[in-house]
Amino acid sequence: MSDAQSRYHRQALLPGFGEEGQRRLGASTALILGCGALGSMSAELLARAGVGHLVIVDRDFVEITNLQRQVLFDERDVENAIPKAEAARSRLARINSTVRVTAIIDDLNHGNIARHASGADIFVDGLDNFETRYLANDYAVKHGIPYMYGGAVGTVGAAFAILPHTPDGDAPWERDAAGSGATPCLRCLFEEAPPPGTTPTCDTVGVLASAVTTVASFQVAETLKVLSGNFDRICPTLLNIDLWTNTVMQLKVAGAYDRGDCPCCKQGRFDYLDGTLGSGATTLCGRDAVQLTHRQDPVGLDLDRVAARLREHGNVTASQYMLRASIADGGSAFTLSLFPDGRAIIHGTDEPNVARGVYAKYVGI
Ligand SMILES: [Zn+2]
Repeated sequence: MSDAQSRYHRQALLPGFGEEGQRRLGASTALILGCGALGSMSAELLARAGVGHLVIVDRDFVEITNLQRQVLFDERDVENAIPKAEAARSRLARINSTVRVTAIIDDLNHGNIARHASGADIFVDGLDNFETRYLANDYAVKHGIPYMYGGAVGTVGAAFAILPHTPDGDAPWERDAAGSGATPCLRCLFEEAPPPGTTPTCDTVGVLASAVTTVASFQVAETLKVLSGNFDRICPTLLNIDLWTNTVMQLKVAGAYDRGDCPCCKQGRFDYLDGTLGSGATTLCGRDAVQLTHRQDPVGLDLDRVAARLREHGNVTASQYMLRASIADGGSAFTLSLFPDGRAIIHGTDEPNVARGVYAKYVGI
């Protein structure tokens, strides 16, 4: 047995897998969208499984609060403030040197997704906000790329394998002209992003590491089925777990495509990819600040609710017109000014990526 055969022997034994399945994995490229807790777990499992090329996009650096759940990183990465994508690349090279890993330190947006997604056979979701998920979903549907949605916060998590309907209905997962085998997309399931401030984030309510790794494991299983060509094994339901209350639900969502009139996969409108929906970021010259504007208006932000959550992280003053919070984030100090229409000004940085990160962590979208 060759080294490669030995390495993947226990995986190749799986039903419907074999050496052909392994060969297919080796010839595949997976784009990992975000390398936090979900993304680092997925990246590790996919590298161990022998997916030939992993492209990891992430905008952040490793911080001490990450180590509780982000399995690829260690204390040295924190001390040296290593970007997550790069820290992941160097760790994965030690785990499986036969896998190619491309590390991209960038904030995924409608202007760069085509470049980063070039050549990807699948998207694996490790994102921390809905806006970027919709962007990924737009691109996946438009280009017929499977998208493994996943999210986890607190003790709950959800995951779903999205296999887009394609115009010609001839993708390998579309078993017939009616497109059976294709699934609803993310906007079929959740047409609008929840208003900012209404969804909990890991930074406001915490996160149980095993909830995240459970979701990531599910995403990876579905990814391996797709890449090895085992489309008949794809889970047709949306997984919903709460590891604290011990509930596991498999939600039947297959009808969401037929019942709805999805702007993305039915009407062919790619609002996030076109840049017509989503947050615009403007650096405010000379003020060490970035303004984030939501184009999806009015978002109706509940400032009292956001203020209550932010008080755990710093000094907060709120009026009916705006909320202002001083936040110490790692070694940096930011002042967040938030308006009821969802607009925010983040002082303490002139980098749109950093400002978006602060917004996603403390306000959430
Ligand atoms: Zn859809």
